[in-house]
Amino acid sequence: MCAINGCEKEGTTTVGEGEDSFDLCDEHADKELYPRTLCRCCRKAVRIADTPVRGNRPYGPPDDFRLCTKTCDLLPKDRCAGCRRIVRVGNNPIGNSSSYRDGKIRLCATCVGQVVDGCDCRACGAPAAYRTADGLRPLRDASEVTPVGNEDTVVGRRCGVCSPGSLNSRQEAQQYYDVVVQWMTGWAQNNGVAYPDYGNRLTWDVARDATFTTEAGGQTLGECVTKTRGNEPKRHEIQVLNFIRPIAFQRTLVHELTHAITNELNLGNHDKIEGFCNYVAYCFMRHIEANGQSAADQQEATDHIARMEANDDQEYGVNFRTIRDDLAQTPNGAIDWLR
Ligand SMILES: [Zn+2]
Ligand SMILES: [Zn+2]
Ligand SMILES: [Zn+2]
Ligand SMILES: [Zn+2]
Ligand SMILES: [Zn+2]
Repeated sequence: MCAINGCEKEGTTTVGEGEDSFDLCDEHADKELYPRTLCRCCRKAVRIADTPVRGNRPYGPPDDFRLCTKTCDLLPKDRCAGCRRIVRVGNNPIGNSSSYRDGKIRLCATCVGQVVDGCDCRACGAPAAYRTADGLRPLRDASEVTPVGNEDTVVGRRCGVCSPGSLNSRQEAQQYYDVVVQWMTGWAQNNGVAYPDYGNRLTWDVARDATFTTEAGGQTLGECVTKTRGNEPKRHEIQVLNFIRPIAFQRTLVHELTHAITNELNLGNHDKIEGFCNYVAYCFMRHIEANGQSAADQQEATDHIARMEANDDQEYGVNFRTIRDDLAQTPNGAIDWLR
């Protein structure tokens, strides 16, 4: 019998296959008179004119489409980080979308066109804001950084991956600093030098965007200024960008502490010093990848390694990989490599 509610005519046309199929009479099988609504994902007919013939769930606005309840609606759905449209159901793309950070941030074709240059995440470069009728708005889970006491001025952004779980103060960063110093003490020993007893000759803090100058080309998240006055012992001032996740903080901190220790050893003027500092940060990421406290931390370190390996900047990427390859068989020869 015809599957349309209230119609008792003989079913002559079968729609779909197997258990999930249904029959329509000659009249209701006419697609022009009775337009069919398809599941947006699997393309099965879920409505004939106004009659649901399979369970379906409407989404919208702005999507205004349906998914079959038996299959597609049960799959995980990814939404555009701007307008929240569904852009993927399971592994099936719905329309064109762009993906960032291994699919953790997706943008529909419309919102991709509204991403504004200069509004990317300072920690990773992924999009962090888009233009709407009401002006610039952060993408989902993204955040804005403003100067203290001036909330109207945006001086930096973090994307929806880097913002959640980020550190917000020096105090929150302290435990991660301690872990890094402990690891670097061992690293220095393995490489035949003592970790310097800096005392108060080394200071560090977290800093907001636009409060410290950035290194060109690759390491935009930290700074180490070493000051020498006559024969006095050197002083080192380290700043690491605030509002980044602990592992990004540690990666940056290792880089900057490597500047400090190599300056301390008078080896800091090497022409591949930036690649060298990134190499040591890479070693720490390898350590977290193998020994991180959680599978999520380990994965995050793996993601950092992948981005370091993909960096095509000469100093921070190419030189780093040269040093990594040179030291592949002699990981405890890093300081000697620099001499
Ligand atoms: Zn019918
Ligand atoms: Zn479906
Ligand atoms: Zn969108
Ligand atoms: Zn980011
Ligand atoms: Zn550097």
